[in-house]
Amino acid sequence: MSDPHLNLINGAWVPGDHLSENRNPSDLADLIGLYAAGTAGDVTAAAGAAAAAQPGWFAAGPQARADLLDRIATRIEADATDIATKLAREEGKILPEALAETRRAAQIFRFFAGEALRMSGEALASVRPGVDIEVTREPVGVVGLITPWNFPAAIPAWKIAPALAYGNSVVLKPAELVPGTAHMLARIIHEAGCPAGVFNLVMGPGSVVGRAMVEAPQIGAISFTGSVPTGRAIARAAAERMKKVQLEMGGKNPMVVLDDADLPTAVAACLNGAFFSTGQRCTASSRLIVQSGIHDAFVAELTRQMMALRVGPALAPDSQIGPVVSVQQLAGNLSYVDLARAEGCEVVGGERLDLPTEGHFQRPALFLNARNDMRVAREEIFGPCAAVIRVADFDEALVVVNDSDFGLSAGICTTSLRHAREFRRQARTGMVMVNLPTAGVDYHVPFGGTKGSSLGPREQGRHAAEFYTTVKTSYSFAG
Ligand code: ADP
Repeated sequence: MSDPHLNLINGAWVPGDHLSENRNPSDLADLIGLYAAGTAGDVTAAAGAAAAAQPGWFAAGPQARADLLDRIATRIEADATDIATKLAREEGKILPEALAETRRAAQIFRFFAGEALRMSGEALASVRPGVDIEVTREPVGVVGLITPWNFPAAIPAWKIAPALAYGNSVVLKPAELVPGTAHMLARIIHEAGCPAGVFNLVMGPGSVVGRAMVEAPQIGAISFTGSVPTGRAIARAAAERMKKVQLEMGGKNPMVVLDDADLPTAVAACLNGAFFSTGQRCTASSRLIVQSGIHDAFVAELTRQMMALRVGPALAPDSQIGPVVSVQQLAGNLSYVDLARAEGCEVVGGERLDLPTEGHFQRPALFLNARNDMRVAREEIFGPCAAVIRVADFDEALVVVNDSDFGLSAGICTTSLRHAREFRRQARTGMVMVNLPTAGVDYHVPFGGTKGSSLGPREQGRHAAEFYTTVKTSYSFAG
């Protein structure tokens, strides 16, 4: 094990209050490293440094910003295997998924390198003769980025890259369970030549570091991805201080399978959407809404393929499903398996697995004969568990889809153009998938949801400018 991993504040590596252990959920005997846990004082120092550095960073111009982001992308690509191995070791997703996520992080930096050069505005004539109007975008200033554990490379990347591209400075706080990947990204950003103070990393607990970020007067905007209760607390605290917020929270994503679906396509989409990445995706399919005519054949085939999935350590070459991220998350998943039985479902799989290494392994689970008013169909579990709800027809399916507190991603498997079209229009979610898993999104287009899933402007693609910039309208009279 190497030296302790420190926070990056104003271009220097600094210790926090204490060191925190990072352990491998595939093998608890594997201590990945010791990571600094920062304090509120560290946040104050980071936010102060970021505020001092931001005007110079914006003034450096779009070429300097594009070049930095491009160098970061190149370095992530070059180090992809090392980063992905650390990611798989600390988060538990299997290595191929970790590699894909790492490469996506590089692609995001490359995309926003281009966007730095495309930052644009509008010129309009005034209603008053001789007056010109310019509408321009300016950076927000210092942005605070608070990220979750399930995508330790991609989510920090899709917040850091637009923040820097549009001329903001950054304080990043990664989730406590996955400081390793964030630390590798911070080192790359630092070594790629990011000016001191423009990017700061403060690791540590949400209740200390995250809270201090929301309270720091220099931080003008907070982008958060995580749970609904934390999102709500952040929104409340930010409103008190008139801060801009962007919140990405949970999902209870429906996947409809109609009688006219192609069965192999539907099973493949549901297997992927519900169970890959151990179901630990906010876009995971957790409500499989299946029409009566195809129900039994679909359940039989999905069950067969689900039970054949190989659950194992993230770095083992034959693993298809890695461990659950933590002991608390595993206990939560298992309690939902019990709840499904108590609510009257027939449960297939879902049991804890003992493997040669001590880790948080769980067999994926289907909750059959579920109803949409059960807690297992309404609450986000964030594990490899999906409820199967039988419906009579398309209209009933649509009612069930929209009867949710969440509205992130909705999918349908059908060969009917009419139903696909109607579904795309009627699903009250931010994203709709036809004959595709609810999870699995492109990096160059907007990501986000409706209702309890998201608050504030969309993330990713050109829409990211809505959050990371503010609009200025200037009037000039030449005389
Ligand atoms: P999860 O259940 O996915 O871990 P959380 O919402 O608890 O979701 O965590 C998401 C991120 O929010 C993490 O980085 C966590 O440390 C941070 N966080 C937790 N509590 C707070 C808080 N009160 N203020 C700000 N950030 C917080």
